[in-house]
Amino acid sequence: MAVKDPTGDVPDWRIRACPDCGGEREHEVTVRFRTEATREAVQPKNEMFARQPYRLLKCYYCGASRSEQVV
Ligand SMILES: [Zn+2]
Repeated sequence: MAVKDPTGDVPDWRIRACPDCGGEREHEVTVRFRTEATREAVQPKNEMFARQPYRLLKCYYCGASRSEQVV
């Protein structure tokens, strides 16, 4: 099994500043689409906005989770 990163460092995109514990922590990052949760309530004219993906971030250090818009 090939090891791409011999240092074992966490990739940059998983390191985020966590407002809850006040440090740069590794996060579990999941991308989701708002349509999954709100499709039935979304009006057609809002469909484009509703399809915007967002990231679900969960801090491995303190367990706090939050979401952010993907731009
Ligand atoms: Zn945290």
